[in-house]
Amino acid sequence: MATSINTYSVKKWDLGELFSGFDSPELQAAFDNVEEQVTSFEGVRDKLKADIDTKTFLEIVRASEETARIVNRVYAFAGLSFAEDTQNQEAQSLMGRVQQFVAEIQNRTLFFNLWWKDVDEENAKRLMNASGDYRYHLEEIRHFKPYTLSEAEEKVVNLKDVTGSRALINLYDAITNRYVFKLEVDGEVKELTRAQLQPYIQGPDATLRARAYQELYRVFGEDGTVLGQMYQTRARDWYNENILMRKFSSPMSVRNLSNDVPDEAVNVLLDVTKKNSRIFHRYFKLKAKQVGVKKLRRYDIYAPVAKSDKAFEFGEAARMVLESFSAFEPKVGELAQRVFDQDHLDSEVRKGKQGGAFCASINPENTPFVLMNYTGRARDVATLAHELGHAIHAMLASHHSTFTFHSSLPLAETASTFGEMMLTEKLLAEETDEAVRRDILFKQMDDAFATILRQVYFALFERQAHEMVQKNASTDELSAAYMENLKEQFGDSVELSEEFKWEWVSIPHIYHTPFYVYAYAFGQLLVFSLYQQFKAEGESFKPKYIKILSAGGSEAPEKILAEAGIDIRSAKFWQGGFDVLSRMVDELERM
Ligand SMILES: [Zn+2]
Repeated sequence: MATSINTYSVKKWDLGELFSGFDSPELQAAFDNVEEQVTSFEGVRDKLKADIDTKTFLEIVRASEETARIVNRVYAFAGLSFAEDTQNQEAQSLMGRVQQFVAEIQNRTLFFNLWWKDVDEENAKRLMNASGDYRYHLEEIRHFKPYTLSEAEEKVVNLKDVTGSRALINLYDAITNRYVFKLEVDGEVKELTRAQLQPYIQGPDATLRARAYQELYRVFGEDGTVLGQMYQTRARDWYNENILMRKFSSPMSVRNLSNDVPDEAVNVLLDVTKKNSRIFHRYFKLKAKQVGVKKLRRYDIYAPVAKSDKAFEFGEAARMVLESFSAFEPKVGELAQRVFDQDHLDSEVRKGKQGGAFCASINPENTPFVLMNYTGRARDVATLAHELGHAIHAMLASHHSTFTFHSSLPLAETASTFGEMMLTEKLLAEETDEAVRRDILFKQMDDAFATILRQVYFALFERQAHEMVQKNASTDELSAAYMENLKEQFGDSVELSEEFKWEWVSIPHIYHTPFYVYAYAFGQLLVFSLYQQFKAEGESFKPKYIKILSAGGSEAPEKILAEAGIDIRSAKFWQGGFDVLSRMVDELERM
């Protein structure tokens, strides 16, 4: 490993690899290029017959991959420019232009997917068998066959989404990303972004924690009616399109099918999690003692138990993460380092920049881009490991096509959470002080809460909310249902206060990608189980793990995991993940 890694510092990413700017000739050329390719693609319409020879068929699929590659670049440039500054008008208008452009070309090329879904089983098998790496992509399109509308209807849905649900989500982002939160700290009123408010929410000062949460939901609550209405519109649109027109059996099945995970497996995951909420109740009671209160307030969930809130220089964080990856497998560390060395990491905090963190994998040949808001807390170090884990996952699968290198959602959180586990492992290994070890275990339980219990209860809320909206529930009724959801989630272990009724309108995921959230729980529990295997098997586990990641999205998640001996329909498998957590709480209770 290069010795220079300690010199990494917080900075903005460089999108130059995609395009040099909004008025770059290459950007315009990309639009023109796609236009040309799509026009030529339209010419193949007549060749599409069920008995088409495999050579011609593959040429057509390859041509559509080429177009997808360019579109992905343009889309990513627009999306990433918008994320780095959501108030940038050039980025906003490029985003609008790209969305409109993509909807139009989707419409012009729609005939291929529609034809493909219609091909008889025998010929479809013949063509898929000859399609190599494209096979699973082609198979996946056919999964949607029973839910597909006529070409004319599909076109209307596509066009209407641009100015409908997608515009609504962009508006939600634009409104909520410009919120300013006022917090008095040491006698001075600070104006903060949501990312800057976060350290106070998770900080050591109990009064500040409460006031930061109150301010967060005061601001969201002030727009609560509008944001609630946006959610209702999103849920209605979801219902109208997917249940009414496409005839899916439930709002959540839509996501399950695009994840290619059986409804049965997701329901088992949700049920097993509900049954295990008691593990977290035990944990919160323990944490109350640690924090020195009789009963934990909702404000104190993420309270640090450590005496000092140590800040980490970014260079130090980068070193720890890269070293922990390399210790597991040198190649993994090298891949992560590429993200730094190519300036694909936007880590600094800026006003107007999108909050939170994400990793964007564009095409197999591009090193992924990572966005985060680094403020120097231990949690940010974990986020760095998490997002770089995503990047590694995409890079390990870069030998697949543009259509198949992306892992599907349920496996998408595997490398990221495993990355966090590797970091924790390193911290535990280097730490001899019992008190600090306890802190690390506490932090792991905090994270397990945030990724498992919390996300599953979001999914349960979404399931309920979509149903309620259908029955014309008001925003206040949804808020009341959300409070009930929290009561069940925390049992008698945590004291809730009134303003948390607005938490749901502050969760971008439930607007952006309904039912996305269970993928986090899926990923985390899966990783606990994989980690157990790693501990038990040592070196021989590594190739199996790398194989899971390298598969990307070239096969159904259920199949990829079955090869590693995992049955996602079995309650026992999911329970295994909770047993790991239960043992952690046991250990904490002993300490
Ligand atoms: Zn993630």
